[in-house]
Amino acid sequence: MINYLFREQNWKSQLSDLITDPYELLTTLNLSTDQLLSGALLASEQFKLRVPRAFVRKMVPNDPFDPLLLQVLPHHLELEDHINFVADPLGEEEATQLPGVLHKYESRFLLTLTGACAIHCRYCFRRHFPYQDNLPKSKDWAHIKSYIESQAKINEVILSGGDPLTLSNSKFKLWLERIESIPQIKMLRIHSRVPVVIPERLDHELITMLKQSRLNIVLVIHANHANELDDFTIAALAQLSATQITVLNQSVLLKGINDSAATIEALSYRLFEAKVLPYYLHVLDKVKGAAHFDLEPQVINQLYTDVLATLPGYLVPKLVREIAGEKNKTPLYGEIH
Ligand code: SF4
Repeated sequence: MINYLFREQNWKSQLSDLITDPYELLTTLNLSTDQLLSGALLASEQFKLRVPRAFVRKMVPNDPFDPLLLQVLPHHLELEDHINFVADPLGEEEATQLPGVLHKYESRFLLTLTGACAIHCRYCFRRHFPYQDNLPKSKDWAHIKSYIESQAKINEVILSGGDPLTLSNSKFKLWLERIESIPQIKMLRIHSRVPVVIPERLDHELITMLKQSRLNIVLVIHANHANELDDFTIAALAQLSATQITVLNQSVLLKGINDSAATIEALSYRLFEAKVLPYYLHVLDKVKGAAHFDLEPQVINQLYTDVLATLPGYLVPKLVREIAGEKNKTPLYGEIH
């Protein structure tokens, strides 16, 4: 088990001590605050800056184009309207069956237990999601259970963003036990960015809980750039390889951040050092406020062609797009236009 004692804060105190002020973020990195046009501040009011200090320490000071900084720094371009970039690009309102239950695919559904995230990613397709109307309470569990039991093909629950690993271990355990109590559920998938941005979250209590579960556990982390994976993060993730937990990574292709084959290749190799396999490489979901991260189809096709030619197959993430109403994520290679 990794020794976290040398880190000055445990994960809960890190979570309550995030940087939320764009001026503080830029001055911490020794950067000019001149770029904070009023539009950027308004963007931060609409979707608040949130970033753990541990993640900021992975950024390169004095570099206004640092690929980690660009993922979190509010930008005035977020206020521009673009055709096809909408508040709910994946039709999640329509897929919501009950508070917290998003059912898009036959054998699995998403359960959102919290609207909170440790970090606010400016490209997030749920940045406008009305979490306040969609969080299940304890009293809703009976309805959720009945819903699952009415859908014989469901065998997997996906806990997804807001980030389920921002919950305390006791709350997480409560929901884990509820899910375990339904015999038809065989797998639990946990989508979380927290192990990357606050690696201390992978604490002994959580790992023991997951190890002891009767469910097959899949943890899908979210890193977009190799710089997110410092040695401490690698060690925290690598300890999971001694458990039965499968650990995968998903990324989003982002202009100016990871839009080169070399960057995706470096990320895959770094993930493998942590025994994490690349899973999905998502084309940006067309969410309002994120158009400036979008890439031209030919850039994506060339990048992926180069990645395929360089990486061993087991380190190549699947290039996909999620299309509202489709029965699965859509594989894209050679199909982008
Ligand atoms: S749901 Fe995931 S991608 Fe969206 S802001 Fe939270 S951590 Fe980032």
